[in-house]
Amino acid sequence: AASEPVTASSFDVRLTDTPTSDADREAALVAPKFGTVFSDHMARITWTSVDGWHDRRVEKYGPLQIDPATAVLHYGQEIFEGLKAYRHADGSVWTFRPEANARRFARSARRLALPELPVDDFVASVEAVVRTDAAWVPAGEETSLYLRPFMYASEAFLGVRPSLEAEYLVIASPVGPYFAGGVKPVSIWVTRDYSRAGAGGTGAAKCGGNYASSLLPQQEAYDKGCEQVCFLDAATGTVLEELGGMNVFVVRADGSVETPELTGSILEGVTRSSILQLLTDRGHEISERRILLAELLDGLADGSVTEVFACGTAAVVTPIGRLAGDAFDVTIGGGQPGAVTTAVRDELTDIQYGRADDRHGWMHRL
Ligand code: PMP
Repeated sequence: AASEPVTASSFDVRLTDTPTSDADREAALVAPKFGTVFSDHMARITWTSVDGWHDRRVEKYGPLQIDPATAVLHYGQEIFEGLKAYRHADGSVWTFRPEANARRFARSARRLALPELPVDDFVASVEAVVRTDAAWVPAGEETSLYLRPFMYASEAFLGVRPSLEAEYLVIASPVGPYFAGGVKPVSIWVTRDYSRAGAGGTGAAKCGGNYASSLLPQQEAYDKGCEQVCFLDAATGTVLEELGGMNVFVVRADGSVETPELTGSILEGVTRSSILQLLTDRGHEISERRILLAELLDGLADGSVTEVFACGTAAVVTPIGRLAGDAFDVTIGGGQPGAVTTAVRDELTDIQYGRADDRHGWMHRL
C-alpha cells in the first residue's frame, strides 16, 4: 500500500452527521463575506517523525483541540496556501494550477523546517475536500470556493527545535466577487518605516509570521488614507518588492512589462507566473528585474509608465490607481483600469471560468 500513488480516493471520507441544509447552504452562497463561511468538511493528514504522513481523511469541519504547549502557538512554525475551485457554465468544477501551489507549499515547508508534503498528497487532499463539498462551489459570476491548505507544528513541546509532529488540513470557504460592481483601482501606501522580508529571511515562504508582521504597516497604510501597503527591499529601501498579499507589475507606454525579480524576499505568485506567460503570448516584452521606486515615479511623471497593477489569487488582477509615500502622491491612469491590465485580467478569468481555451493546461478538473 505504501507504494500506491496517493489520489483523492486515498482519503477516508467520514461524512458529518449534521450537514448544512440545502436551504442554509444556498443562503450562505449568496454574497458571502470573504473568509467567514466554511463548507461542511475539511481534508486532513497527520505527520509524525516516526510514521511520516498518515491517516488521510476528510472529516467534519470543526474546532481543533490543541495542547497549550503546542509548538505553533509559541514559535509560529506554520505555513499555508490559497487557491480556488471554480464552477464552469456546464456545472463542472475545476481548480487552477494546484501543482504550482503544491510545489510552493513544499518550498515553504522546507524553509520553516516542517515536513514536505508530497505534491500528489496536496493535490489529492484538495480534490478530496472539493469533491465532498462540491455543492459549496458557488455558480455566480466571479464567485469561487476559496481553498486554504495549511500545516502547523502540533507537537506539545516548548523546546526551540523543529516539531516532531505536524497537522496538515484543507478548509474551504465560498467567496463572492472581489470587486462587486466592477473592477476598481486601489490606492497604495509605500512604507519606509517597515520592511516585509530581508535577504535570507522567510519572504519567499508563505508562512503566517510574514502576515503577522505586515499588519502594522497595513494599519499605517489605512492611516495614510490608502487601501494597501507596498514594501521596498529591506537592505536599501529603494527597490520595489510587493504588496502585503499581491505581486506588482509595471506597464510601459511602449508595451513592455516589468515585475520585480524573485530575489528570495518576495513570494512567487501563481498569478504572477501565469500573467508572465499570458503577456509573453500576447507579444509583450517582459523583464523580471530590480525596479527602483525612483525609476517608477520618474516613469509615471514623464508618461513612460502607463499602468501599474497588482495580482494574486484573491483579487486576480487589481489596477493600482494611486501610489503615495512620504514624499509623493501620484494618480495613475486617471483612476481608471488600463488597457493591458484589463486585457490580462479578462484573459485569465476567462481561462479560470472556462470561457476561453485552456491552452497551457492550467485547469484541473475534479
Ligand atoms: N505575495 C504575497 C505576499 C501573497 O501573500 C500572495 C498571495 N498568495 C501573492 C503575492 C500572490 O500569490 P498568488 O498569485 O499565488 O495568490
